[in-house]
Formats: sequence, C-alpha cells, structure tokens
Amino acid sequence: MDELAILGGEPAVPEGMLQPWPPISDLDREYVMASLESDRHTFGPNCTKLEEEFAAWNGNKYAVTTNSGTAALHMAVAATGCGCGDHVIVPAYSWSSSVTCVIHHNCLPVFVDIDYETMNIDPAKIEAAITPRTRAIIVVHLHGLAADMEAILDIARRHDLKVIEDCCQAHGAMVGGRKVGTWGDCAAFSFNQNKCLCSGEGGMFVTDDQAIYERARQVWSFGETRTPVESRDYHAYALGWMYRNNDLTAAFGRAQLARLDDYLQTQRENAAVLLQQLQDVPGLILPTEPPGFVHNWYNFTIRIDMQAIGWDGAPARMRDAVLKALNAEGVPATVWQRWILPAMTVFQARNAYGQGCPWSCPYTEQLPPYDPADFPVAQRHSDTHFGMTTPLRAPHGPDVARAVAKGIRKVFSSIHKLDVDEILKEG
Ligand SMILES: *Cc1c(COP(=O)(O)O)cnc(C)c1O
Repeated sequence: MDELAILGGEPAVPEGMLQPWPPISDLDREYVMASLESDRHTFGPNCTKLEEEFAAWNGNKYAVTTNSGTAALHMAVAATGCGCGDHVIVPAYSWSSSVTCVIHHNCLPVFVDIDYETMNIDPAKIEAAITPRTRAIIVVHLHGLAADMEAILDIARRHDLKVIEDCCQAHGAMVGGRKVGTWGDCAAFSFNQNKCLCSGEGGMFVTDDQAIYERARQVWSFGETRTPVESRDYHAYALGWMYRNNDLTAAFGRAQLARLDDYLQTQRENAAVLLQQLQDVPGLILPTEPPGFVHNWYNFTIRIDMQAIGWDGAPARMRDAVLKALNAEGVPATVWQRWILPAMTVFQARNAYGQGCPWSCPYTEQLPPYDPADFPVAQRHSDTHFGMTTPLRAPHGPDVARAVAKGIRKVFSSIHKLDVDEILKEG
C-alpha cells in the first residue's frame, strides 16, 4: 500500500498539486501594464520607487536597484574599497557569485569553512584566515538563516575589515531583532525567480553609508557620478559597468514586494508543519533556527545522517538515490550545490582573466593553491544535503507541506529497499 513510487507505488504528492512561483495577481498586471504603456523602459519611475520602497521595507538609508544580485555583490566589493590584490574572506560553500564578485574586482578570495549546524561561515575559523592584505568579509545568510553577525562584526572591528552581506536568499531574515542587510557596511539582494522576492531577474544594493552608496552608484552606471534621473555628463570618472535595472522589471518587483511580508509568513507556517511532521524520522538532520534568529525559510535544507541509516558508502551516492526516490514521490527536492566553491574549476585552474590573473598579478600577495580538503565541513554538507524551496512558498498551504512530509517519511521508512547502484545506473 505504501510502496515507494520509485518501485511502482503511488506518489505521495499528487500531480498538479504544486503551483508555479510566484503567484501572479491583478496588482502585478496593473503595475506591469502601466509600465509597458508608459514611455520609460530603461531606468524609470518604477525603479526609483522600488528603491524607496525596498529601503523602507528593509530599514536602509540607501538602495540601488540592479539587474541581478551578482551585480549588487560586485558593487559591494568595489564600494567598500577592495582593490587590486586585496584579500576578501568568503565561505567555502555558497552560490558561485558570492565569490566570483571578488575576482571581478581583481581581489583574491580566501575561503573559510562553514559550520555544519547553521551551514553558514564558521566565525571561529575566520581569524586564522586573515592576512595583512585582508580588506573585507563576505557573509552569506545561506538558505535564509542569518550568519552569526555579532561574532563576525566583532572580528571585523578588531581587524578593521569591511563586512558585505550576501542577502540574496535571506529577504526578511533576522538576528538579534534586526533584519539582514542592516548589519554590515552594505548588502546585496537578488530578485531572481528562485528567490523569495521575484521580479524575473533583478537585485538590490543597500547601505546606510553615504560614501559607499556614492561609489556603488558609480560602478553601477558606466563610472558616471550622476544618476540617470539627473542631467548626465556621460563621463566615466572611474571604471563602471551597466548594472541598472529596467522599469518593467521594477514594476513587477514592486507589485511582489507589496506581498512579501505575507509570502514570508506563509513560508514560516509551512516550515513549521514540515518541522513538526518530520521531527521523529530517523536519518534526517532537520534545519535549525537557533534562539535569537528568525529564519525566512527560503530553502528547507535537510541533511541525511548516513550513520543512522546504516550507509557506509560514498554519502553523495546515497543522497542522489534518495533524491530520485523523493522526486518519484512528487517531492520537488533538489541538490542545491554539488560543488564546494574552492573545488570549482575557476578557482582550481585560476582561469579568470588569463595569464593566471588576478592571482598572478604582481601587486597581489600570492596565495597557495586552494585545497578542497581544507573544507571538510562544507564537503560533508554538500554530499549529504537536499533541499526544497517552492513547496514552502505561497500559494501553497499546509496541505502541500503535509503531502511533501509524507513523501519524505515514506522514502526514509523504506530506505533499506533502495538499491543505490540500480537507481543511479542511468546517471
Ligand atoms: C542567487 C544568489 C546570488 C546571485 O543572485 P542573481 O540575482 O542570480 O545574480 C548570489 N548569492 C546567493 C547566495 C544566491 O543565492
């Protein structure tokens, strides 16, 4: 009766139960159509409004809307004064652009391992990674749980380092009663479709520091000092890019932002159902929300306790087999990131700009090759995890969370039936 779907049983999540993200309402249609019918399709009034509204929502003085979270991260590296050959501390596990933004400004990333419980950079390992050339720390609030900002800011203050927050997954997450993006010197958000706030593509740079804001604006629009709403002189005062957002996208983002608090509430409710329904399942290591932290439940990330399920083969193989069994149940679980960052080709081959640059630049303090073995916690996390995003999000309610939990319980209660070699045979 409860035969696994991968072995021919009925899926736990019925087909058609899951809805696309994000929900589209009349507000989206109204804002987007009004923008479409206007004559402002580049950086327009919706962009300015989105900046004002997002700054007010998050509690920042300044906000600059961008065409991606990656652009906002590069602006952050540049605006905090990191320059050629400087070292920037980064977590060993994140999205690639949390770290490639450092190379984009001719600086070198120095990786620090993560903490297994929180999945975020391990503050206890940061000081050992500081060199005389270290200028900044990039903190990623991974999967929607804030990093330990008090500990990180304490280290940064003692070593005179800037702190950049990668909030691309963490809209609305809090620690110590404060939202992410208000702790460091500046921060980057993403509005890509996979994130908690979607405008298709897009992002936001935020800061409370006027000088950082002005430098970021310059990087953002061709190195000019005047914004597109002022009378421009079309002069590149410094190296700039074209990271601006456009009016249609911003209109969509504004309509979604109006519902963001409701979306986050839905995620909390669905996460609570999942945590409750999965609490006693042997073999699962559930995500945590330590005291003083407010998770935004961007990604509900579970690790498999390989010992508890009696698996002594390669962890990633069992995880991949479990994933296939979950997907067969209709559970939209995925591996978020199979590679720890230092193992990625760009960092191993040092192939960023050719000739080994920026690592081999004469103004650079040379670093030894990155050895993935130096980051065993990140590796263990990567090999044992799977996660989910959309089942927690609006318009899904507790019925979806319960169906998903049922699928996970089903697979783990019959885990001994999974023939890993057979399941992975097709690749
Ligand atoms: C998505 C993401 C980014 C990049 O955002 P884009 O808008 O896709 O450029 C950066 N960091 C993290 C942690 C992300 O999840």
